[in-house]
Amino acid sequence: MFNYQNYFKNIIQGIKSEGRYRVFIDILRKSRNFPNASWFEEGKSVPEDITVWCSNDYLGMGQHRKVLDAMKEALEKCGAGSGGTRNISGTTHYHVELEKELALLHAKEAALLFTSGYISNEATLSTLASSLKGCIVFSDELNHSSMIQGIRSSGATKVIFKHNDIDDLNYKIKKYDKNIPKIIAFESVYSMDGDIAPIKGISSIAKENNALTYLDEVHAVGMYGYQGGGISEELNIKNEIDIIEGTLAKAYGVMGGYITGSKYLVDTIRSYSSGFIFTTSLPPTIVAGGLASVKYLKKSGEERKKHKHIVNFLKRKLLEEDIPIIDNPSHIVPVQIGDPVLCKRASDLLLSKYKLYVQPINYPTVPKGTERLRITPTPLHTEDMVNNLVESLKKVWKNLNIGNIAA
Ligand SMILES: *Cc1c(COP(=O)(O)O)cnc(C)c1O
Repeated sequence: MFNYQNYFKNIIQGIKSEGRYRVFIDILRKSRNFPNASWFEEGKSVPEDITVWCSNDYLGMGQHRKVLDAMKEALEKCGAGSGGTRNISGTTHYHVELEKELALLHAKEAALLFTSGYISNEATLSTLASSLKGCIVFSDELNHSSMIQGIRSSGATKVIFKHNDIDDLNYKIKKYDKNIPKIIAFESVYSMDGDIAPIKGISSIAKENNALTYLDEVHAVGMYGYQGGGISEELNIKNEIDIIEGTLAKAYGVMGGYITGSKYLVDTIRSYSSGFIFTTSLPPTIVAGGLASVKYLKKSGEERKKHKHIVNFLKRKLLEEDIPIIDNPSHIVPVQIGDPVLCKRASDLLLSKYKLYVQPINYPTVPKGTERLRITPTPLHTEDMVNNLVESLKKVWKNLNIGNIAA
């Protein structure tokens, strides 16, 4: 008889033997002490103080006074849950306000909220590509899993183009008749290498071939552009992109995803997308927090400025010490290791000995052989903290004999 337990045990043993078994680090973030946290090490009764260096709460907005106050107020005013799907009593006034704010941010006619950025990609691309009959989706080879899943479930033909390669995209898209509906799906800031797409080039190819552009700005909203509208705002090309997608869970520090686009396109997703329709809407507390964060970062450029400074400071220090980073123009600092076991050991040592938390990034998040420590400094990390991190990395490199840096 088929042995289910053995079957799953073998799967896990396989992952473990490749050295990429995932261990979640059990922490509690400290609200008035960002980016510090308590670490609950397994088997220990007392938690330890650590510094977090791998959070996607890029600007510390998840603990910002304005955000917390808005959430508390919403909790007291409206209670815990939203009480329904968007269609059946779950559209609170906060949802309406936030959608207006997001449409304005990206200079689009309409916006639609989802329970996460993942769902917004998955649900939108699957509905969009299946409702455009015979459509072909051109997808960057390094697109996020949520986009890949959405395209897959649409059943549309998918053409993968080489990462950030406009010549390859141009070559591939030219083979198809102009009358066939097309979508080009890509990201602005790629989260693992921190490189940035040639958005202008992609957008002109889209225009020449009458294709829709779908841009994931998850790692850029709140962070780039004078109001936090992302790379498309920084480059002043919001209008050239048909659909801009983002999250409220990274730089905005809360939770939820969204798309923005033209009135009828967004209305089509609202009317047909299963991942939007058949799920309870985000709770009012979360939406109020997201709204406060978006509004705040629209006005304040202080966090973005401080953030750029500390990111550049860290990159410079790492280069000075010959610690290999993937060079990029963004706020993401990927330290290359290239081996899953070594990567995990480096991370373990950083945490246990130096109380610094940087999660190892391994397959399937990045290709095998490109394992790395992905460091994300925030405006609340100080120069002293950076110096301490770099010193600790140097010791770990030496201890584990990673690369051959000058001691
Ligand atoms: C994190 C991420 C998402 C998903 O957003 P969530 O709000 O976390 O679900 C989508 N796209 C990219 C590129 C991401 O890195």
